[in-house]
Amino acid sequence: MRILIIEDEKEIADGLEAILSRENYSVDVVDNGISGLDYILSGMYDLAVLDIMLPGMNGIDVLKKARSEGVTVPVILLTAKSQLSDKIEGLDSGADDYITKPFDAEELLARIRARTRASGSASSDELSFGDIILSKHRQELRCGERSVKLGHKEFQLMECLMINSSRIMPKDTLITKVWGPLDDTEYNNIEVYVSFLRKKLRFIKASVQIVTTKNVGYSIEVKDNG
Ligand code: CA
Repeated sequence: MRILIIEDEKEIADGLEAILSRENYSVDVVDNGISGLDYILSGMYDLAVLDIMLPGMNGIDVLKKARSEGVTVPVILLTAKSQLSDKIEGLDSGADDYITKPFDAEELLARIRARTRASGSASSDELSFGDIILSKHRQELRCGERSVKLGHKEFQLMECLMINSSRIMPKDTLITKVWGPLDDTEYNNIEVYVSFLRKKLRFIKASVQIVTTKNVGYSIEVKDNG
């Protein structure tokens, strides 16, 4: 899952990035409202944490503009204690939740989990598809008694495929979700990671496979053994 942080106070942004990365979210940070809006409009995020007082464009305006463009990504506003009117305006403008600075990391994580669950993304610690179970906490893939550890990118890729198991994920979308919108150095690595995952699926004797649809992308499906 990919989370966008729009926050100009470097200390807070760095802290958030560290907390979320430790929980295996992919995180992008921007420090002003104008870039923040561009990033939100990319549609590549599962959730955005949005500060209100920002250079360029304030958080409320970013939010209003994003909602008026039809972006439905869950947004958690960061507000200072005194800004009660901002909270009300924020919720009226389409925020899903807000948290008051200084905030407690556990509380923020709980709210992020709640919000991403509400949007239908990965919610609990485990995702399942066919005969496989992906554990976020253990960073492993399981099939019956057999299990295998996944690297961070492998995990992100598998999670993306499992959350979107009913459709073919375009290669560009997967790359953006796993490696980020600004990173083109790893563009061709996706094939390498898919091949790692295929080996691991074989190792745990899963009946699930990753299917390549040429010039479109990747999907997962349960092998037909008949
Ligand atoms: Ca600020």
